[in-house]
Amino acid sequence: MAQPKYKRILLKLSGEALMGGDAYGINRQTLAEIVAEIKAVVDLGVQVGVVIGGGNIFRGLAHASTGMDRAQADYMGMLATVMNGLALQDAMRAAGMASRVQSALNIEQVVEPYIRGKAIRYLEQGRTVIFAAGTGNPFFTTDTAAALRGAEIGAEIVLKATKVDGIYSADPKKVADAVRYERISFDDVIAQNLAVMDATAFALCRDQRLPINVFSIYKPGALTRVVLGENEGTLVVC
Ligand code: UDP
Repeated sequence: MAQPKYKRILLKLSGEALMGGDAYGINRQTLAEIVAEIKAVVDLGVQVGVVIGGGNIFRGLAHASTGMDRAQADYMGMLATVMNGLALQDAMRAAGMASRVQSALNIEQVVEPYIRGKAIRYLEQGRTVIFAAGTGNPFFTTDTAAALRGAEIGAEIVLKATKVDGIYSADPKKVADAVRYERISFDDVIAQNLAVMDATAFALCRDQRLPINVFSIYKPGALTRVVLGENEGTLVVC
């Protein structure tokens, strides 16, 4: 059997990834397909933590820009990630996976609170841990939560699942000869002003020397190839 390059990973799954072709919310078929991709790497013996986004339901900034109080809107955004986390756990259950949801905001009747030691124990037991409610603080994003939880649980890499299969020299939809980087340094990402994660998340990964791999979650087998250390998406390293 192929040997994974990483023992423990942090997967950042955006809320939008769960929409599939829909305009809003959770597409159950898409969710089942994403879960199958995650199950494949868990079956290789990789310990997986997932930070789930909420943009398919509610994005704080979008509502703040139309007059809503930003912190209030952000709390709503964090609650959206809890809904996605529960949906993801349910899909994992249906696929025969053992998982736990831990939330950065206390909603005791629904999800357990985030406790680092417990999360690590679950991972060691082969359970997938879904981290919901981002960092628990307004004015942050789930990308930052991914960098934070990744560093906290000792993940060897943060995998940023997007709709695009990596980082390009320019927007591939607009520039025909845009090239995909296989590997790029943190410094070059900054120098070329490329969008990988938001600045806070990016700085945290860089400070902690935590590599990032950007890849497409819609590409079958891509997550497994990343975990096996194959050339997939773009690897950002120090
Ligand atoms: N959010 C927040 N603090 C966090 C993480 C998220 O306030 O630590 C809020 C914020 O309003 C954000 C929303 O939750 O817009 C959903 O998260 P995000 O936009 O990161 O989700 P994604 O783009 O990954 O779907």
